[in-house]
Amino acid sequence: MLEVADLKANYGAAPALWGVSLNVERGELVCVVGPNGAGKSTLINVIAGLHRAREGKLRFEGADITRLAAHRFCGRGIAIVPEGRRLFTGMTVQENLALGSFLPDAKAQRAQTLDRVLALFPALKAKLPMPAGSLSGGQQQMVAIGRALMSRPQLLLLDEPSLGLAPAVVLDMFQAIRGINAQGTSVLLVEQNVAMAMEIARRAYVMEEGRIVAEGAARELMDRP
Ligand code: ADP
Ligand code: ADP
Repeated sequence: MLEVADLKANYGAAPALWGVSLNVERGELVCVVGPNGAGKSTLINVIAGLHRAREGKLRFEGADITRLAAHRFCGRGIAIVPEGRRLFTGMTVQENLALGSFLPDAKAQRAQTLDRVLALFPALKAKLPMPAGSLSGGQQQMVAIGRALMSRPQLLLLDEPSLGLAPAVVLDMFQAIRGINAQGTSVLLVEQNVAMAMEIARRAYVMEEGRIVAEGAARELMDRP
């Protein structure tokens, strides 16, 4: 479904990705783990079309999307939940969710998509009319994921969804991500919470200093020294 081949990216003259290759098959939940500064966010932002690749190729569903930043969001394609959620905190939860729904869907289809999102995150139902900024961190993360799902993506990119959340909430968050994947959405998850990420993903990549340094079954990677 997604093929990343020898991807290189810079910030100015400073390289952040030195030639990263990975793939996500249809229906998979794959995680990318690694220390702070490894290039995980850069990788996910390049895949989402938010940062430009200097070299390398990106293919999605067979199409070359390396230079198609905006087009990535036009069909039922790739959606990103950026690090730090980036909600419009003064707008209501419902308005934030609606922002993700840019497909030319009929009203009934939109309502159905919203129902599906709310079924994943039932706690949001009562919060729809409230300003997003008044919600807890965990609930705000649910809104951010829900907003991305409103475009019914085939591939969901998640950048550190557990960041800043209380441990009890983190567990719920990962259960929800597992649920999203179980419903057929492929997921590429970037995480510093290695134990949790390895728990829900079957396959994982380890990144260090802009490179993939290990790849394999999540459990085998966890058992290495
Ligand atoms: P278990 O049977 O104990 O859940 P598995 O190795 O079957 O162990 O699955 C480990 C995790 O990987 C589960 O949480 C499961 O939801 C998830 N998973 C299932 N199918 C896939 C897939 N195709 N790709 C990635 N992860 C998957
Ligand atoms: P991670 O997500 O693994 O923490 P990042 O992709 O955020 O890593 O960062 C990779 C490298 O790129 C780091 O050296 C970081 O300092 C640098 N970097 C990230 N964002 C920027 C930016 N906007 N401008 C300049 N350098 C950046």
